[in-house]
Amino acid sequence: MALIYPNTYHVGMSNLGFQTVYRILNNLDGVVCERAFLPEPPPSDTKALSTLESGKAVAEFDIVAFSISFENDFPNLLAILDAATLPLSAADRDGRRPLVTAGGAACLLNPEPIAAFIDCFLIGEAETLLPQFMDRFDPHADRRTWLLEAALHINGLYVPCLYQDFYNEDHTFKALKAAQGLPDRITRAYVNDLSQFRTRSAITTPHTTFDKTFLVEVSRGCPHGCRFCAAGYVYRPPRFRSPEDIADCIYEEKSPEGTIGLVGAAVSDLPGLETLCSRISEDGTEISFSSLRADALSDDLLTQLKTSRVKTATIAPDAGSERMRACINKGLSEEDILAAAAKLVAAGIPNLKLYFMIGLPFETIQDVDAIADLCKKIKDAFLEASRQKGRIGHITVSVSPFVPKPHTPFQWAPMDTIPSLKKKIKHIRKTLSKVPNLTVQADAPRWAYIQALFSRGDRRVAEILVAGRDNAWNWARTFKSSPIDPDFYVLRQREELEVFPWDFIDHGIRKSFLLAEYKRAQKGKTTRECDPRSCSLCGVCPPQQTG
Ligand code: SF4
Repeated sequence: MALIYPNTYHVGMSNLGFQTVYRILNNLDGVVCERAFLPEPPPSDTKALSTLESGKAVAEFDIVAFSISFENDFPNLLAILDAATLPLSAADRDGRRPLVTAGGAACLLNPEPIAAFIDCFLIGEAETLLPQFMDRFDPHADRRTWLLEAALHINGLYVPCLYQDFYNEDHTFKALKAAQGLPDRITRAYVNDLSQFRTRSAITTPHTTFDKTFLVEVSRGCPHGCRFCAAGYVYRPPRFRSPEDIADCIYEEKSPEGTIGLVGAAVSDLPGLETLCSRISEDGTEISFSSLRADALSDDLLTQLKTSRVKTATIAPDAGSERMRACINKGLSEEDILAAAAKLVAAGIPNLKLYFMIGLPFETIQDVDAIADLCKKIKDAFLEASRQKGRIGHITVSVSPFVPKPHTPFQWAPMDTIPSLKKKIKHIRKTLSKVPNLTVQADAPRWAYIQALFSRGDRRVAEILVAGRDNAWNWARTFKSSPIDPDFYVLRQREELEVFPWDFIDHGIRKSFLLAEYKRAQKGKTTRECDPRSCSLCGVCPPQQTG
């Protein structure tokens, strides 16, 4: 099998999901999995894309599997199929070509914009899906017969050519209908008990984002229910590994060299995190954290950060005002955020990175002003604590345009327009321009617009992808000449009862719950955190037995 990350080697090898799939596949009997990435520079006309391990052409493998984490990599999928000399459309590939499959977070949210290019999707978590898929795979079987059989027997396997899409007269999506006895909805596959699987780096390598860092998963999903966060919904229920299990993951093969990177959407919620950190840092090993919540910085954890010589800590207030943080259900007060900034500096961590979003649903200009105001207050708390330490560090404010994602309460909301987002970025930059030791970084609204199109699209968006490829990825020219209006997907407020192209993926969450959450957001009402032992609020966890 050729396993492909649709971005560069540098990005792909930093992705724990990609590394996990590589490890699982090579541990299966009778499977050899080799890697390929987006070529840089683009390949010459004469040399087709080949794998890293053996240099064999990707087109010569039985299976070509894409691991797709981000919608902005959808264009790279087409570029890679071209580079591998494979026909783009699944309908144009017969059994003499490799079976092209795809999985990963972007497919879990909404695979429809790339459905035309893929023979089958693996919708769900790789640990449970891949062994069944490979066990059943038969390279000699008739391709269509095999796909139908596989779709009937593997929970989470989605074969787009066996489903037909329908639309209403106003161009909104109407339905996806299954053929030949298949269910209309695909139930995502997920792992009940994470301790059954090791999710950690397969290869630590230099020249990646996590240079010489051994990544290990500590949790999957997140209990906080932030309304903007797709991972917080599609990876429900939140699951945590035990500190013993994580230590086994790290040490059972050999002591990894370099830093240990703890990965998860809710690392600081891990019960026993401090004990785990003490165990890792016993021999001087440094630790890095993918995320820490501002309200979870215990003294022990701060000591661990200091021992690990962490130079920059990241806090994600996500919104500037208390009102907006209630809208997004962030569950962090201004007090929590300011206290966290002061504590981090006092613990000897000199630099801070702050994450904010602009263009959130129901945002007002006062909420945008509040981002700059909060940054100034954090700067004051930071300066005071820095003076006591005799060293002044740096604050980086990262501002990202918000993209409303499928399967979240904000899936009904329009994205903010590009001119409005640009204005807001300019306003924040200007307000903070005179603040010393602080820089503002902002993601380009144009890329957020493209991400929104690919994440909220239906099968008709494939035409835009092909046109983009034919226009050498010039999106301005592509959108101008496209018969399909991208604004229809990106900027339109959805009706409450509208059917979405991604509704056919069943994550176990009731749509009525998501809509209720959207309405609560509008009223600034928060919702309590997940507690899988006593909750059946969203529909994912089974109702609790009483008596
Ligand atoms: S049912 Fe409750 S605990 Fe389970 S995922 Fe939903 S909100 Fe979280």
